[in-house]
Parts: sequence; structure tokens; C-alpha cells
Amino acid sequence: KKLKNRGANRHLIDFTKLPIEMLPTVIIVGRPNVGKSALFNRLIRRREALVYNTPDDHVTRDIREGVAKLGDLRFRVLDSAGLEMAASSGSILDRTAGMTASVVARSQLALFLIDVREGLHPVDLEVGKWMRKHASAIKIILVMNKSESLDDGAGQLIAAAAETHKLGFGDPVAISAETGMGMADLYDILRPLLEEYLLKTKPVVDEDNEDNACDDSESSKLPVQLAIVGRPNVGKSTLLNTLLQEDRVLVGPEAGLTRDSVRAEFQFDGRTVYLVDTAGWLKTKQDKGPSSLSIMQSRKSIMRAHVIALVLDAEEIAHNTSAMNHAEVVIARRAVEEGRALIVVVNKMDLLRGKQMAELQKKVMEAVPKEIQTVLPQVTGIPVVFISAQEGSGREAVMHQVVDSYEKWCLRLSTARLNRWLLKVMSRHSWRNTSSQPKIKYFTQVKARPPTFVAFTSGKSQLPDTDIRFLVKSLKDDFDIGGIPIRIMQRSVS
Ligand code: GDP
Ligand code: GDP
Repeated sequence: KKLKNRGANRHLIDFTKLPIEMLPTVIIVGRPNVGKSALFNRLIRRREALVYNTPDDHVTRDIREGVAKLGDLRFRVLDSAGLEMAASSGSILDRTAGMTASVVARSQLALFLIDVREGLHPVDLEVGKWMRKHASAIKIILVMNKSESLDDGAGQLIAAAAETHKLGFGDPVAISAETGMGMADLYDILRPLLEEYLLKTKPVVDEDNEDNACDDSESSKLPVQLAIVGRPNVGKSTLLNTLLQEDRVLVGPEAGLTRDSVRAEFQFDGRTVYLVDTAGWLKTKQDKGPSSLSIMQSRKSIMRAHVIALVLDAEEIAHNTSAMNHAEVVIARRAVEEGRALIVVVNKMDLLRGKQMAELQKKVMEAVPKEIQTVLPQVTGIPVVFISAQEGSGREAVMHQVVDSYEKWCLRLSTARLNRWLLKVMSRHSWRNTSSQPKIKYFTQVKARPPTFVAFTSGKSQLPDTDIRFLVKSLKDDFDIGGIPIRIMQRSVS
């Protein structure tokens, strides 16, 4: 069967049009050597995989994440580091398995790979047991990899498939990550399941008074992941040291764990804050290498972080025509595109103090917000904080903004409240009320981090951009969630 015959027309959802963070997540699991990485690489093709550590692990294992492309299907795919629980059950392995459980919990579906050449291996049974225990909430698809190596005609595949029923995950899909065999079958199985997941837009919180999930006791315990990015010499390390103060905690590395396992974290206002990708800077303050702004490096940080603090140098802005250079603009845009909460920190304000500097100071304070608005028109009100890291005055200002933006980023609004709101805003806006025009019947939030909404509309056509912009603006004004990316999707219910 050929993948290219799979058309988008017959389907309800066009995955190619969905923003990345709306895409469902599929995790590839299995014992070592079954071909997880081979399948991952085939799915993401030549595109870039991002390696990140999971937000809530205490042991840092690298997990690769990429956007999978399978015909017209798109999903996020995670290459698990392997559920290596069958080897000795040392503490690191236990904790690794625990970490993988948290990653599994963020996925909507798992591809459980086995190596068909080896038949069912005892470790496969272990993995199966583990998945039943930790992944009972998600759909698990059994995948027989390396199937090209079996002789289909002789019925070996059928026999192998029959044997896998012992695992209790139903009929397997036969594929070859290496040759691409069976990818169309995989598509046929995945497409309806992922579509169903997206159509099930269950509002997460429906009680009227539980709007803000970040304020409830459970999620306030979750650490905020903060990345500090910026060009060399803008003062990132200085700011970092200010933030850490004497609370500085360096975690790891433990023997057997990979790079990146040293982590900087501190407490602010009862919250734990992880500084993403900055651990290396602490050791090498003199060595200027790691603090340079490489776009690639920042991209990785952006994927790992919830809040991005982009640091700019006030003195440079004062003497330049534009407040941000190209690299800074690229990073800022990237942060917003990835749906992260962006804050801009203008450092070294101490250099613009005094009477003779008043003009320059005014220039900087006006130029930065203006430029941000120009380069990121889709997000109004990105917060800008003016500090002097060297004087240590920036900690409170930066951290209050980080926490504020994080909370907005996590906001969940109940469907009941949103629909009362919708009635009000509908009357404020001059909707073009022709019969061909879609109407919003229902409005709900499908996810937070960042807030993402679905407008259910009547009629086949899409709401015009002006209406979408009006809704975004109203959400921002009415619920005080300016400065963070907000997504609105549309779904026709006629
Ligand atoms: P992982 O440990 O599960 O990530 O496995 P890898 O992706 O590293 O693959 C383990 C080995 O199996 C490698 O030597 C791959 O080349 C090989 N392999 C992966 N997929 C296939 C396949 O479909 N057919 C064959 N014959 N070999 C494969
Ligand atoms: P990084 O390369 O972004 O990590 O920058 P550093 O933190 O190493 O700072 C680069 C230079 O700027 C150092 O000489 C710092 O002392 C200086 N610097 C950092 N923050 C400030 C500040 O707030 N005011 C002034 N005047 N200098 C600063």
C-alpha cells in the first residue's frame, strides 16, 4: 500500500494546518535494539530532533522529540530512552522508569515496538507489563519491527503476529523502520485514533471557580522552567548569579547519566525554578564559550523552557537605531511560535543613570516595547523589565514577571465562564451577519500552557481573521492574559 494515496480530503482534520503544540503526542517504547531510534528517524525524516529533559524528572534523561510526518498526518513523536527495567533494578533504573512514566503520561498514544526476528523476548513481556501499569490511560499499538526480514509468503509474519497476542495489545502492525515497509498500515491505524483524540475536546476544568490551574495546590508545586537567552556580554551570567543568590542548588550528575544532568535551581515565592541549559555557565564564568547566543542553542532552550527571558543590553540599545538585532528577533519569534511565555529583560540600566543620560534612558524605555510590538505583532503586551543585574536589583522584578507570565501561560478558564463571556463579546463586535458567514456556537479551552481555545462554528467556512483577532484581543483584555501567545482553533459543527 502506498502512503501518497492517502488524501486529506476525506478527513475531518487537516493535521498539516495545526500548530505544533496542538498536535497529539506519540511515544515510541520498547526494549533496547528493537529499532525505536530507527523508527523515530524515519518519522521525522531529516528534520531536526530536539533533545530535552523532562520537566518533572529528578533524574535527567534525554528524550528526543520531533514532529513526525506520515503522509498528511502530523504528530509529535518522542523517542523514549528505553524502558530498561529488565536489567538490574538499581536505583537509577527505577527512577528512569519513573521518569518515563511521566513522559508516557504526556503522550496520547504509544507505539510499542518489538523485534519480529527475535520473537517475543522476556524483556518485551516486562515492557508490556510496565506499560499496562503505567500507560493504562493511553492507547497502545503493538508494532512488529524489522518485518522486512521475514518471509511474508511463508506465513512467518502471520505466525509471529499470532505469538504477539500473548502480550494482550491486540493485532500488531508489521513494519520495517529501515525499509519503510508497513508505513501506510501504520498511517491507517494512527489517523483515526489521533483524529478522535483531537475531536474529543473535553474541557479540562468545568467548575466555575476553578479557572486558574496554576494557582491550585497541585500545580503550584510544579517547577517553572526558565531559560535565560541573549547575546554574549549582555549580562546573562550576572543575572543568573543574582537569581541564584545563596539558594544556589546544583543537582547531579550521577554516574551513568548523561550530560546536562547538572542543573541549577532555586526557590522564589514558594516555587521551584529550574534554570534551563544554564548549568554550564556556572562552572565556566571566565570561559565565555557557553554564554554565546547561538540560535541553535537558544532553540533547544526554548523547547525545554516554559518561560524565556531574553536579555538585552541597555547601553547598546541607547547607541543603536534598533533595539534588537537579527538574532534577537529570531529568538523572540521562535519563543512565541513555540507557544512559550516570553519576557524581555533590559539589563545594564545603571549605565544610563544621571541627568545627562535622561534622554538616552527615555529612548531605551520607549524603543524596546515599540520594537517588540513591531516584530511580534501577534502578541500584544510582552512584558519588558528594566534592571541592573550588576547591582543585583533585578531579582525581584524579573522573578515577579516570570511567575506572573507563567501563571497566565497556565491559565484555564471554565467553559461555563467562557460562554458567558462569549455572549458579552459577541455583542461588542460587529460580526458580519450574512448567512454564508460562520457563527460561533460554543467556545471552550482545550489546553493551557499556552492557553488554547476552540471556537465551534456553524457553517463550513472559516471565521475571518478580523474576528479571530478580535477574540484574541478580548480574551487578553477580559482575562488579563496579555503578553503570552494565545491560540484559537476553529471547528465546524454544522
Ligand atoms: P533502539 O535501541 O530501540 O533505539 O534501536 P535502534 O533504532 O538503535 O536499532 C537497533 C538495531 O536494529 C540497529 O542496528 C538498526 O539498524 C536495526 N534496525 C532498526 N530497524 C530495523 C528494521 O526495520 N529492519 C532491520 N533489519 N533492522 C533494523
Ligand atoms: P553574558 O555573556 O551574557 O553571560 O554576560 P556577563 O554576565 O558575563 O556580563 C558581561 C559584562 O557585562 C561583564 O563585564 C559584567 O560585569 C557586565 N555587566 C553585567 N550586568 C551588568 C549591569 O547590570 N550593569 C553593568 N554596568 N554591567 C553589567
